Amino acid sequence: MESKSTDWDILIVGAGIIGCSIAWHLRSSSLKILLLERSEPGGLATNAAAGILGPLNETSGPGPLLELMQESLTMYPSFVRDVQEASGLSADLVPSGILSVATSPDEDSKLQEKWKWQSSSGRGLSLMGAEEIRKLYPDLSVDVTSAIHYPHESHVFAPRLLKGLLGGLGHFPVTFRGGTSVRRISPEPGGALIAETAGRERIRSRKIVLTPGAYLNEMDIPGPVPPVIPANGQILSVRIPDFSLRKVVFYPPKGYFVPKLDGTVVIGATEETVGFQTRVTPKGIMEFLSPLEKVCPRLLEAPLQSTWSGLRPKTPDGLPILGPHAELPNLIFATGHYRNGILLAPVTGKKIAELLLGNLSPSLLQPFSSARFF
Ligand SMILES: Cc1cc2nc3c(=O)[nH]c(=O)nc-3n(C[C@H](O)[C@H](O)[C@H](O)COP(=O)(O)OP(=O)(O)OC[C@H]3O[C@@H](n4cnc5c(N)ncnc54)[C@H](O)[C@@H]3O)c2cc1C
Repeated sequence: MESKSTDWDILIVGAGIIGCSIAWHLRSSSLKILLLERSEPGGLATNAAAGILGPLNETSGPGPLLELMQESLTMYPSFVRDVQEASGLSADLVPSGILSVATSPDEDSKLQEKWKWQSSSGRGLSLMGAEEIRKLYPDLSVDVTSAIHYPHESHVFAPRLLKGLLGGLGHFPVTFRGGTSVRRISPEPGGALIAETAGRERIRSRKIVLTPGAYLNEMDIPGPVPPVIPANGQILSVRIPDFSLRKVVFYPPKGYFVPKLDGTVVIGATEETVGFQTRVTPKGIMEFLSPLEKVCPRLLEAPLQSTWSGLRPKTPDGLPILGPHAELPNLIFATGHYRNGILLAPVTGKKIAELLLGNLSPSLLQPFSSARFF
């Protein structure tokens, strides 16, 4: 096939929540932007996500990741409102609050450990005992002995947010192309970059942003490329329209459930390193269903609606990779968001857009730099 060359200012590779959020934050620039997707947008991780937005519940201590998550959580209401205005689609952002519960003395003491560093966060958290839990949340089992309540944490319907972003982008001069898989990135003299597709098309762009989720290392990219590992997550939903508990509930270490606005409850999730396999196994779902017996047995009686699995883009240290390639400053990484890519989408979109527009120094993203691996 004859190869052709096209000029773009910014090429974004991968239309999951991260690629779409970056395009969204660039939508009003005068740049020529191309967003490429090889199959179903968000098909590997975004569409599989439970949509929990829980910074404190997800981190083991203060630090740059927690700060980034908190900043992103703060951005969420205006982010979903703007997307809804442009697309007409609601992402069902629910300011539900999150409960992290314990059902044994060992889990109680782990919760106490968390409480030690989190109680001073000034975010209205509370540590609850069994009696208070039974009074406020009668749907929970009497086996629940203590809980931390995170009142400001929330959840969103991730696949609809992604659909809204793509629909909303249609009103702006951002070009979206599906069915296009990028195989290789190569530099040109002068700093521009070439993305070569599976169809052997050569797409020339001033800057390229790589947002392929767990598939970063499947591309042929020159120089030091940070490691991203697919972490499979199996997950399911049950239908229970009269469920009165509206909180997201975590029952560490094995599971969580999220009551959605549409009368379903999403229950998840495993974490396995099995390459790029996306399958659901009885053993996998038992991992988070069995402990539910001591948390909310009623959910185990509800009709099963659907099961699915996805691939979290995981890095060895659990932090995302944000910022330029060590040798090619016009090649930008925005991946490795692991368990929190939905939560981190607004802040990632904003910061990477600012970086691309020259309004943010890469040094401000230093904790997330790919250089930490080399
Ligand atoms: C079971 C499960 C539950 C989760 N729950 C939550 C949660 O509650 N809260 C939360 O914040 N996060 C959650 N996550 C994590 C979150 O889903 C991810 O961190 C996030 O979706 C990553 O988004 P992404 O855009 O980087 O990747 P993806 O959604 O995987 O998107 C990447 C896109 O790039 C495309 N692509 C890949 N390679 C190429 C190529 N070479 N050329 C062109 N296109 C390409 C893919 O087809 C895909 O559409 C969960 C994940 C799983 C699996």
